[in-house]
Amino acid sequence: MYLKKPAIERKWLLCPHCGMKVLLYDNTANCSGVFVKCTRGCRRTFEVQIRGGEQSPLQEAKK
Ligand SMILES: [Zn+2]
Repeated sequence: MYLKKPAIERKWLLCPHCGMKVLLYDNTANCSGVFVKCTRGCRRTFEVQIRGGEQSPLQEAKK
């Protein structure tokens, strides 16, 4: 069985603090342990958490 999805959709990763667009990922992305700085918005640093092409919902709920 070929289960891997093609990378067809790109989405913005949003800053969990202020909601600004920080970086682009596609629908096959998996990421943790990577930290980026919100350069356009609040300038805070946060961990990039993407599982199976979706930004972690827990991360989005954080304040
Ligand atoms: Zn921010």
